[in-house]
Amino acid sequence: MNIKHEASCSLPTRWATFELHAFTDTSAESNGKEHLALVLGKFNPQTPTLVRIHSECMTGDALFSLKCDCGLQLESALEKIAAAGHGILLYLRQEGRGIGLVNKILAYGLQEKGADTVQANRMLGLADDMRNYSVCKSMLEYFNVHAVQLLSNNPDKVAALEKLGFQVQRLDHSVRPNPFNQEYLQTKEQKMGHLGKLGQGG
Ligand SMILES: [Zn+2]
Repeated sequence: MNIKHEASCSLPTRWATFELHAFTDTSAESNGKEHLALVLGKFNPQTPTLVRIHSECMTGDALFSLKCDCGLQLESALEKIAAAGHGILLYLRQEGRGIGLVNKILAYGLQEKGADTVQANRMLGLADDMRNYSVCKSMLEYFNVHAVQLLSNNPDKVAALEKLGFQVQRLDHSVRPNPFNQEYLQTKEQKMGHLGKLGQGG
């Protein structure tokens, strides 16, 4: 077990009152990173559970940035889980596809000079995507979840969960693009294999 359950409380939101659970990553390389789970309902291993794995995006989730689709994806996931009446959102503290907040701002600066999101990471000597989903296994198993209906457009995430031993069915999780993130979403589709539906919203 590379994760420790630390605390829980109830969290009223616009969409539902979730249970909020805090975990600490106890693996040596993580420096005690803290992750969250927003949970609605109870689960059993036989029934697939609606799951969103959301990686922290300070600018999109908290600062209303239109440069990416993270904030809207977060809202949409909580809305879908509330509508279904059950599900889990894992909120993983791996900012900027894992490169960290300062590197992300550096990459945004390079993008203003013409680089795309993938080129900018490479100019900084960083991988396109440094996220690690291994903590998901312990977090989902803590809630007795083994089969997942995954809200995601990212085939890497599906593959990562399958490799961790979960049964995964992917559900489209596109949100409406805006004039500021159209290019970013196109790069994710063309260079990173994401399966969005540009222009179709929802
Ligand atoms: Zn973002």
